[in-house]
Amino acid sequence: MDFDDDDKGSKGKGRNGKPIKEFDCPTCNANNPTDEPIADKDELRCNYCGNDFLVTINDAGRLKFKEL
Ligand SMILES: [Zn+2]
Repeated sequence: MDFDDDDKGSKGKGRNGKPIKEFDCPTCNANNPTDEPIADKDELRCNYCGNDFLVTINDAGRLKFKEL
């Protein structure tokens, strides 16, 4: 039986195809674990400083934040 190729649209996947389930807040540097894997264009809130960010994931699997 063939396995489905799940690589299309790397939603919630970081480098090496691993889901990203934490982020470092760009404002206060706190490390925030997430319940759901982070996907491109997700909105994240830092649990420490309360800032909201729109996150994008670039080709290298790195998170980029834009303050909302
Ligand atoms: Zn923060």
